[in-house]
Amino acid sequence: MVIEGSERILIDCAPELRLQCVREDIGNFDAVLITHAHNDHILGLGDLGDRARWTREPCPVFAPAEVLPQIASRFEYMSREKSPYLCHVPTAALENTFREFAGYRATPIQVPHGFNGWSYAFRMDSSSGSWGYMPDCLGLEDLEPWRNLDLLVLGTSFYREPAPLEGRSVYDVMEAVELVSKLGPKRTLLTHLGHGVDVRRPPPEGIQYARDGLIVPLP
Ligand SMILES: [Zn+2]
Ligand SMILES: [Zn+2]
Repeated sequence: MVIEGSERILIDCAPELRLQCVREDIGNFDAVLITHAHNDHILGLGDLGDRARWTREPCPVFAPAEVLPQIASRFEYMSREKSPYLCHVPTAALENTFREFAGYRATPIQVPHGFNGWSYAFRMDSSSGSWGYMPDCLGLEDLEPWRNLDLLVLGTSFYREPAPLEGRSVYDVMEAVELVSKLGPKRTLLTHLGHGVDVRRPPPEGIQYARDGLIVPLP
């Protein structure tokens, strides 16, 4: 997901990042936020490292403190400050930064991620509104941080996932609808959609499916 405003911020770094940037004619980012270190959220960091090598313009990566060591171990060659490959990508703990991202304060909140353990979601606040980005979550118990949102971007996999709960890690669409009814955001976009969701069919009332290239005005 890309935020375009006073800055261009990327949230999570999909394996197809390079192809997405070519498609959208995007050459660089001012910063990247990472929710957690699963392949589908970080593999594109390699492309950022390659870009830094050639442009000498490293793009800073911000992630929750407990995610940073996982990123460093997966991208060891980009973590070395004196790498001969010259693709150092500077990283910083999101909790310890006073930086805003395109005018939003970003609060990382750990959320349950089913059998995968935990992930993080971000609450983004500005003087004009609030939104949340929660791509990988299942079994959210603490609803309070997610109240009063103008927009919730929520990850789902199947429409109705048949596997037993203990073997799952992300909400399905029907569970997402239930969660949304408890949280009451003004608008909800479902992302992270798997092949089990037929986006040609109308979504349940009150939610919308995201898609590649979708442009959404942020609050
Ligand atoms: Zn995950
Ligand atoms: Zn994921």
